[in-house]
Amino acid sequence: MRKSEHGARRLEHIETVVREAGIKLTHQRLEIFRELAHTEEHPDAETIFRAVQRRMPTVSLDTVYRTLWMLRDLGLVTTLGLHGDSVRFDVNLHRHHHYVCVRCGAIHDFESMDLNGLHVPESVKELGSVVHAQVEVRGICARCQSVDAPPKKPRAKPGATRAPRAASPRRT
Ligand SMILES: [Zn+2]
Ligand SMILES: [Zn+2]
Repeated sequence: MRKSEHGARRLEHIETVVREAGIKLTHQRLEIFRELAHTEEHPDAETIFRAVQRRMPTVSLDTVYRTLWMLRDLGLVTTLGLHGDSVRFDVNLHRHHHYVCVRCGAIHDFESMDLNGLHVPESVKELGSVVHAQVEVRGICARCQSVDAPPKKPRAKPGATRAPRAASPRRT
């Protein structure tokens, strides 16, 4: 399925559920839904806000927040709070797992039948019921790695000592 079809189907689903919940489909809400339905980026509220604001300058960050939390209450998005302190919203309701870049915070979805069948230890069930397990793989994404690639042979002056790369963030 093409990405745009994905987005269109998600948008339709969101509109249907919201309408059935008796919530008015205002122009602002629709723009927020549209933005969210068509992204694969797991954006936070401010990212959605900036994107919607370009088409609709009157929208407020507060409206975006309230709309996103409403969608969460309706089960139309899930939230992730992995990177820094901003909550990220995930509109992909299909079973999937996450690749998280520890440097730029990008979150990519991936699917794996093996991971879907992951055996959850009994000790977890003592904590509460289990709906499903979602795996989070962490690393430095391909894009960050390419930015990170060493520049071509910096010419070191004779006798110069190479400075340690103290400034680079710690890798986990
Ligand atoms: Zn990255
Ligand atoms: Zn996701």
